[in-house]
Amino acid sequence: MSAFRFSHTAIDTVALRAELANPESGGYTSFEGWVRNHNEGHQVRHLEYEAFEPLAVKEGERIVAEAIKRFGIERAACVHRVGDLAIGDMAVWVGATARHRDEAFRACRYIIDEVKHRVPIWKKEHYENGDTGWVNCERCAAPGEHELHDHALADSAGAQANGGATHVHAHASAGHGHSLAHQHDDHHHHNAEPLQAAPAPVDTPPAKRAELRPDYSRQTSLKEVGETGQAKLRNSRVLIIGCGGLGVPVIQYLAGAGVGKIGLVDGDTLEPSNLHRQTMYALADVGEHKAILAADRVRALNPDVDVRAYTIRLTADNASELVGEYDLVVDCTDNFSTKFLLNDVCVRLRRPAIFSSVYQYEGQLQVVRPDRDGACLRCVWPEATRDGLVGNCAEAGVLGPVPGVFGSLQALEALKTLLDLPGQLGNELLVLDLLTMSTARVRIKRAATCPDHASSRVVRALDTTVVTGTPSAEPLELSFDSLDAAEAAGLSVIDIREARELVETPTPSTKARHIPMAELLHGATPLATTGKHLLLCASGRRSLAATEELRSRGQKNVYSLRGGVANLRTSRSAPAGVASRSVT
Ligand SMILES: [Zn+2]
Repeated sequence: MSAFRFSHTAIDTVALRAELANPESGGYTSFEGWVRNHNEGHQVRHLEYEAFEPLAVKEGERIVAEAIKRFGIERAACVHRVGDLAIGDMAVWVGATARHRDEAFRACRYIIDEVKHRVPIWKKEHYENGDTGWVNCERCAAPGEHELHDHALADSAGAQANGGATHVHAHASAGHGHSLAHQHDDHHHHNAEPLQAAPAPVDTPPAKRAELRPDYSRQTSLKEVGETGQAKLRNSRVLIIGCGGLGVPVIQYLAGAGVGKIGLVDGDTLEPSNLHRQTMYALADVGEHKAILAADRVRALNPDVDVRAYTIRLTADNASELVGEYDLVVDCTDNFSTKFLLNDVCVRLRRPAIFSSVYQYEGQLQVVRPDRDGACLRCVWPEATRDGLVGNCAEAGVLGPVPGVFGSLQALEALKTLLDLPGQLGNELLVLDLLTMSTARVRIKRAATCPDHASSRVVRALDTTVVTGTPSAEPLELSFDSLDAAEAAGLSVIDIREARELVETPTPSTKARHIPMAELLHGATPLATTGKHLLLCASGRRSLAATEELRSRGQKNVYSLRGGVANLRTSRSAPAGVASRSVT
């Protein structure tokens, strides 16, 4: 039997129990989730469950395997219903057998909790008043619901004895006027029975809410859009990877515009340090999954949108299946491994993808259009191991509106593409410096060396930058015990860390120059082409990325110190301030 599966018909617990039976086990627990007749003060008539099955089955099987390993149990399985369910129907079943009861209980609880977190399943509630609303099943497993889980666990034990089970789904209902923070509060109130939604301080009466419909007149009145364009948007499916600084404006504008289906991928939970740039969220939401929070916002903004939250990380394992479900991809991540993965999948599946990266006050935008034989990310950036080069807000810092601007540009390019408007960004890289407000459009072409493509490689900038990729046989990284040793070997050391990092850990050399990475890569003054430069950062990650970048631009005499400052033999500390900022 497959350890995780979907069922389109009633779940047969007798047969499932028999599948798990084995002579080694002295304990068997099962959990049943039932469809309940109310949610959030709405009377629910029936439900529809929908799953993204190829991805869901893989993730579900992974969860069961984890539970077996983690708790050392004999067997476990989970079955989830899909399709139309009536009140009282069993929506999900989990069973676990173990030598002793305790492991069986814990494994059973682990499986149901993780399934609710990680498996892409959605339900559509049909209310007594005729309304419907899509809800994420993951919602009921949001962090902080320990009481609910305890309750569920207690019932899973009871389920065996008396056939009773608790309904595990406690959802914020879709499309109504509560604020996110309020939904969050509601959510906790679910834990207590009887279920009662806390009154919203200011709320639209239910009758009024039902009358409100999205109004697209401000965009359909554009002659390039019109009703035809609106219909195109309604029939479009857009996948947004990353619900952070770039993702927030993309999500809001595409939802507002009435894109028919929006998928949101983000495995992270909200942190207080996100909020200065991710202003769609609320402080009270800290700790919750961003994909779930964002999906709630989309439903509140535009109930026409069919929104799907995937609280997962994009991997080589799931990327093709996810991307295959959508027409257009918007990359709002801040790491290069994900960008290149997406690039490769989009080229293969011929899906257009809109990429953006932000670093401190500047960023860039590139639209990859494999459907029109356009250049891809690898045509421009031949080395894929570039994590740490740009967009790492945690290390480099960023002002909130910077990703806001680039996310807005991504949303704009997405709409232009979906509506097939003129002026779409083609084979070019748009680079904006928001401090100086300078703009560069760098022409790019499909590269002969690109693994995804095979044609001539010419990259020429419209401004003064000339980019010529030249793969080099020279090692990228060098190892030294101390900077003195590096200097003795004839290398001039350049510390590329940020100024505030130097305050905490000064450069352990009095001769080293300090040029922060952004300035080194994007500043006006190039490094001397004579001599050898050794780049230094905290861990060797940024310096390697910067070295690769400079090499790809033809600067051959640059190297990265492997392991960075952290790897240097503890040497005399230079007093703070000695490491002077030297930009010639
Ligand atoms: Zn390419």
